Amino acid sequence: MTRRPDRAVLLFDFDGTLSAIVDDPACAVPRPGVVERLTSLVGRYRQVAVISGRPVDFLASRLPAGVVLSGLYGLESSDGEGTVLTDATAGRWVAKVAAAVAAARHAVGADPLLDGVEIEDKRLSMTIHHRRSPGAEGAVQSLASRLSDEHELWLRPARMSFELHPPVTVDKGTAVHALTSAVEEVESVLFAGDDVGDLAAFASVGELGERGLRTVRVAVVSAETDPRVVDASDLSIDEDEVMTLLDALLAEDRRPEEEVSGG
Ligand SMILES: [Mg+2]
Repeated sequence: MTRRPDRAVLLFDFDGTLSAIVDDPACAVPRPGVVERLTSLVGRYRQVAVISGRPVDFLASRLPAGVVLSGLYGLESSDGEGTVLTDATAGRWVAKVAAAVAAARHAVGADPLLDGVEIEDKRLSMTIHHRRSPGAEGAVQSLASRLSDEHELWLRPARMSFELHPPVTVDKGTAVHALTSAVEEVESVLFAGDDVGDLAAFASVGELGERGLRTVRVAVVSAETDPRVVDASDLSIDEDEVMTLLDALLAEDRRPEEEVSGG
C-alpha cells in the first residue's frame, strides 16, 4: 500500500473483520493471531485504529494497548492510552436510549415472535440482534422502527441486527476524518470492513483519495456480505484472509531501506 508505513494510517472494523461473527455478540473476540499482529503494527505505522459499533470499553478489553479506538460508530473515542471521550451532543441522549432499551426488553419479553432476540445496551446506542432467531427479522425490524419513532433515535441496519442511535451526524465516515486529521504527515490510509455501516468509512476514505492521499478500501467478504460493500471497495478479501492482509502490512514495514527511500 505504501512505502512509508510511518506515514500510513491503518483503520479496521471489529466484528466480521478483526473478529469472526459469533452467535452471542458478547463473546466476540479477535481472530487468533490478530492481537499479536496489531501489536507489531502499532508503532511501525503512523496510526493503527479500530472503528466499530461497539463501545470503546468493549474494544479496549480485547485489543492491544496503542490501538486507537473509535466506538459506537464514532460517538466514543479513545487515544489508545485508556482515556474515553464521549461525543458531547450524544451524551444528552443517554436517557432516551435507556428508555428505548427498556421498551425493547419489554417487547421481547411479551412477544413470542421475538423469542431469542437479544438487546445490547451500549449506553449511547443500542443494538437489537436476531442472529439466533433469523426468522424474527421482520418482527425485529418493526420493533426497531417503532422504537426509532417513539424515542427519536436513528435506525441503522447491520448484519443480523438493527442499531438505534442518537440523531447526531456522527458515523464511521466522520470517525475516519476525525482520526486521520488528528495525525500529521499522513500519506496513505487503509480501511477494512465487512458491513453496510462501513460504507460511510469507505466514502470518507474515497474523499481522502481525491485529496491526493493513497488509499485502499478493503471489503472483508463472507456469505452475508451486502454487495454494496464489495462495490464500494478497491479490494475484496475472504474473511479467512484477514491474517494474510495483516501479514502483508507487516511485510511492508520490513522492506529494505533503499526501497523505502525510493519514494
Ligand atoms: Mg463489521
